[in-house]
Amino acid sequence: MLSYRHSFHAGNHADVLKHVVLVDLLDYLMKKDTPLDYIDTHAGAGCYSLVGHQAAKNQEYNSGIGKLQAIDWPELSDYLALVSDCQKGPSLTQYPGSPEIAHRLLRKHDRRWLFELHSTDFGLLNGQYGAFRHTRIQQTDGLKGLMAVLPPASKRAVVLIDPSYEMKDDYAAVTKTVVKAWEKFRTGVYAIWYPVVDRERINKMEAALKRAGIKSIQVFELNVLKETDGRGMTGSGMIVINPPWVLFDRMQALLPKLASALGEPDQASFRCEVLAQD
Ligand code: SAM
Repeated sequence: MLSYRHSFHAGNHADVLKHVVLVDLLDYLMKKDTPLDYIDTHAGAGCYSLVGHQAAKNQEYNSGIGKLQAIDWPELSDYLALVSDCQKGPSLTQYPGSPEIAHRLLRKHDRRWLFELHSTDFGLLNGQYGAFRHTRIQQTDGLKGLMAVLPPASKRAVVLIDPSYEMKDDYAAVTKTVVKAWEKFRTGVYAIWYPVVDRERINKMEAALKRAGIKSIQVFELNVLKETDGRGMTGSGMIVINPPWVLFDRMQALLPKLASALGEPDQASFRCEVLAQD
């Protein structure tokens, strides 16, 4: 039974971090003309209304994209331009999820794979993107779907792994799948999102990825509140395997600014770390 609906959380600080990194990864990999595969294991609904009752309930976007509207930092320009292009008028009413970001950035010869288990969100994805070429949308487990797609014919891929971590086993399942995926397709760029709720689980995931021998791993984390012991999400992070060489410097410049713009004073923090390097 899936109870998580991303529409309640669209545009929050965690989405900002995740999508800034995603835009950077796609921008970089598309500098080369050759085709690229985009694989989104937990795609969500695609695009979100911020004025619909779900997003409006807790207005989480006010902790994220809502705070960045008047910002003019070079590191955010591509992401903010993309968000702005999604709006139907002058005010912020829409937020692009990861499939919409990919839809706006990918080229005609790129391929995308979207996996989503929830029937409503799967239907929404199909309605928005199902008719496009080189697009496969499947209502199936995204981790199994990923393994079936790898290695992609293009031999170049960005894989976004963005579960809601509703089940405690999700951390282990993600780690196991990422290691298997990397063993099958070692040059892919893998971006794994995680919530900061329980540090022990994050430490275990990072240690297992390192132990597996993965050669190039970086982590980017944005904490908007002081970390507590398992009492709710205080931040989130992205583990990136095989990051483009430009990403670390860009995130090192951006994370302190994001922490101060989105975080609570005296509580916010960030991590910008190399976990493994070849
Ligand atoms: N990636 C989206 C974005 O950035 O806009 C948000 C995804 S949301 C955090 C996680 C999604 O995964 C939910 O829509 C949920 O229904 C879906 N989901 C949960 N378990 C899944 C599974 N095993 N396989 C595929 N999708 C799953």
